[in-house]
Amino acid sequence: MRLRNVTGSREMIAESPFVVQEPAAHRGAWGAVFENSHPIQIEIGMGKGRFMMELAAANPDVNYIGIEKYSTVLLRAVQKLEVLELPNLRLIRMDAEDICEVFGPGEIARIYLNFSDPWPKDRHAKRRLTSRQFLARYHEILAPDGRIEFKTDNEDLFDFALGEIAPAGWKPEAVTRDLHHDEKMLPGNIMTEYEVKFSSMGNPIYKYIIYR
Ligand code: SAM
Repeated sequence: MRLRNVTGSREMIAESPFVVQEPAAHRGAWGAVFENSHPIQIEIGMGKGRFMMELAAANPDVNYIGIEKYSTVLLRAVQKLEVLELPNLRLIRMDAEDICEVFGPGEIARIYLNFSDPWPKDRHAKRRLTSRQFLARYHEILAPDGRIEFKTDNEDLFDFALGEIAPAGWKPEAVTRDLHHDEKMLPGNIMTEYEVKFSSMGNPIYKYIIYR
């Protein structure tokens, strides 16, 4: 997702107290940012932040960090968060490729990947956020009992993601090819912006939860 360039979006992001400006400075010490020792969960490729904000409002004893690559997209989340003022949510503008420079070993309790960019060309497979290259990065920062949750409406991307689980040393805990009609996996589901859009078009939503 890229949005029309918004004049001054970088400046607005730089001034927001909800955006962590130098995230690598907090590596291994994120509890200090939230001033507590609650578990930390992250969404990579957060977009405009609907999912993170709903989760954070529902779970005040969990800290959340939303990660987004583009300032113009992040700005929308910043504007919403400045109204909601959720104390347990922070935002970072960064490329997830550098995630191990920002979080220490085992520092993260759960990672959410929602409607990640498909990168359909084979030669770009390693850029997919569910590739074995990214799973190796998540292995570094995720606690031993941590989980990754991935949702998409893209069947090809989901099949690719399933194929990456075992070679990367992970195991499936739960898998569905129709989340919205899955009695076991649906309860507690929080819809993302893309999920609202694509499920309203009748697309099934695929989801896995993996661990190692
Ligand atoms: N998760 C949201 C949802 O489900 O509504 C947004 C989905 S959107 C298709 C994917 C988002 O991931 C985009 O905003 C894109 O900029 C972001 N993104 C893609 N690759 C990224 C990366 N390597 N690091 C950080 N963000 C990334």
